[in-house]
Amino acid sequence: MKLIGHEKTRDLILSFLEREYDSYSFIFEGKDCIGKKLTALYTARGFLCEKKVGFGCGECTSCRLVNNTIRNIYYGEDLNSHPDIKVISPENGKEIKIDQIREAINFLKLKSKGGKVLIIDNSERMNAEASNALLKTLEEPPEKTMIILVTSNQNKLIPTIVSRCKKVRFSPLSKEEIEVILGLKGLDEKKIKMLSEISDGSLCLPIHIVENETVYKYGKDLYHLLSLYFEKGEIHSEGIISLSELMDKLDIESILNIIEILEILVYKNGLNKKIPVEVYDNILKEVDKMKRAISKGVKKKLAVEGFYFNIVR
Ligand SMILES: [Zn+2]
Repeated sequence: MKLIGHEKTRDLILSFLEREYDSYSFIFEGKDCIGKKLTALYTARGFLCEKKVGFGCGECTSCRLVNNTIRNIYYGEDLNSHPDIKVISPENGKEIKIDQIREAINFLKLKSKGGKVLIIDNSERMNAEASNALLKTLEEPPEKTMIILVTSNQNKLIPTIVSRCKKVRFSPLSKEEIEVILGLKGLDEKKIKMLSEISDGSLCLPIHIVENETVYKYGKDLYHLLSLYFEKGEIHSEGIISLSELMDKLDIESILNIIEILEILVYKNGLNKKIPVEVYDNILKEVDKMKRAISKGVKKKLAVEGFYFNIVR
């Protein structure tokens, strides 16, 4: 798995690695789905490399084991992973609990030849107890250890943790970088262009769409129904009722992604002046209402229909 983009960020990390500190504590902060965790794994590779070359020589035993760890994580393979790297993330996607942190701290204290690395993904989800337990370790880290807190928002970490870490900021990916990454996934040119258009600097939405074709289609359909109204004055009640019935069967995440696609299309066409200004503002206001309603548990079908009829009535 190749690292794409983030050149300056990588240079900064390399300059830290070159100093060969005994222990490191980092915060990697930036948007979701842009490569922070992958960069953390490469940073671990550099730290543990037997030859101490940049992000790792890629050939020594340690580097090869890190490569296995990366393949296990990103391709779901089951190779011998590196015994000195531990990656933790929120249990059930909810929070990181103290037991997870305690176990991780014990892992850091175990003897090893080249050092130990702990990567905490979505670290802003550590609960208060977990944060305090980690803080103690950050204050007095065991020898030869690296701790990397990966987060989309460091303000959600407790300030005492933040002050103990070196901060590394990750910028959103450029359109070109997104296209390169999607190209590596073997997608065709046309799809790559379409996905990079709506990417907004991150791979979250493109990946969700690749995994779930219908999301993009429904987002476009919903926009199409609106455009028929403001371009031709046509109201398509049956169209919206059947679309909202289809959407009703999807999970909340998919619905929110459909709405995000709709917002992006509205925004783009608003910029191109294809949507009258007074309609544009109203659509965005109604989009917001629909999102809030769905998040609060209003039936998806009703929220989508309500959205449409509030605009066209
Ligand atoms: Zn190496």
